[in-house]
Amino acid sequence: MKPIVKIDIIKCNRCLLCVDLCPADVFTIRDNKIEVANMESCILCYGCVPLCPTSAISVEDKEMNIYDEGTDLK
Ligand code: SF4
Ligand code: SF4
Repeated sequence: MKPIVKIDIIKCNRCLLCVDLCPADVFTIRDNKIEVANMESCILCYGCVPLCPTSAISVEDKEMNIYDEGTDLK
């Protein structure tokens, strides 16, 4: 499990829903912007993705995409 959590700061409206919801305290507020502060703590529950009203959050498990990075399966 290798979580990659990203926030599109342009889309984010700073509603703070993700900060309140995330069970792993991945998000934080700094300089009035939402940041991904503890990406390694993410438990990949994916709760924040549909919650975000502006679709600003993306979450993926890097290990699940390992074969997208040029690994030849033949
Ligand atoms: S839920 Fe979405 S819009 Fe709201 S603070 Fe988090 S990233 Fe920004
Ligand atoms: S997927 Fe779950 S644990 Fe990870 S950042 Fe989103 S709400 Fe937090």
